[in-house]
Amino acid sequence: MSQRPVSVVTGAGRGIGRGIAIELAKLGHAVAINYAGNAAAADECLQLVRAAGGDGFTVRADVASAADRTRLLTEVLAAYGRIDLLVNNAGVAPSVRADLLEASEESFDRLININLKGPYFLTQAVARQMIQQVQSGPETAFGRPRIVTITSISAYTASVNRGDYCVAKAGLGMMTALFAARLAEYGINVYEIRPGVIATDMTAGVQEKYDKLIEQGAWPIRRWGQPDDIGRAVAAIARGELPFSTGEVINVDGGFHLRTL
Ligand code: NAP
Repeated sequence: MSQRPVSVVTGAGRGIGRGIAIELAKLGHAVAINYAGNAAAADECLQLVRAAGGDGFTVRADVASAADRTRLLTEVLAAYGRIDLLVNNAGVAPSVRADLLEASEESFDRLININLKGPYFLTQAVARQMIQQVQSGPETAFGRPRIVTITSISAYTASVNRGDYCVAKAGLGMMTALFAARLAEYGINVYEIRPGVIATDMTAGVQEKYDKLIEQGAWPIRRWGQPDDIGRAVAAIARGELPFSTGEVINVDGGFHLRTL
């Protein structure tokens, strides 16, 4: 049994997931660094996690695959015997940004499988494990387990050139509400973090577009978001700073969600 709090972060090799893993490492967590295929990035993340005061291991698993999700859980429990925090972060953008009237069913299936169905059933499996932990005690210094899902401003912003992405992220919002309602009786709080535009590989191809939008004031805090902006929000949840909130949406978007006149 690990003395450290145990976190599982999906898609933690690069980008936002890496930022989250590092912030959790600063809190002393053991982090299961999940990735899809880029082993070198995941290894680098593990080095950074150790340097930041945490520990962990890397685990390749496609969140869209039921067999991989089972193996991910088996490996984490074999290593640490417990899961204190699940962070559903892994996600992909559509391979091509296609107009709503043209976009393919193939792209829709891919986005739904990775961005929605995968986290939905991973959360189901992890929730069952967390309930068992709560029922069999004893409680650790971390307190009751928690679940965080990284969605997007796309959960409520209509972008007609990536409808599949928007629909998947909107679905994740309801997933958060559902698990929050179902798990409250066990003291397991569930949160949604909605990032705005964050500088990662996912947005590297549209950097110029967003540079211009920032200049024009598309959101009040005129800069790119960074992975550690999201990591620090997750860390606040990991520290237990929001004990009377569940199903809560936390916007980390530079104020993008504000309506101004
Ligand atoms: P990224 O830089 O492209 O990194 C994606 C990470 O997810 C990588 O570690 C990748 O693994 C992993 N991954 C991809 N498909 C996976 C799968 N099927 N199973 C397991 N892991 C998988 O993306 P990011 O920008 O950090 O985005 C992370 C999350 O934040 C996503 O859910 C995204 O939708 C959301 N988000 C991003 C932004 C933004 O502006 N960047 C804004 C709002 C929300 P490999 O390294 O092995 O490929």
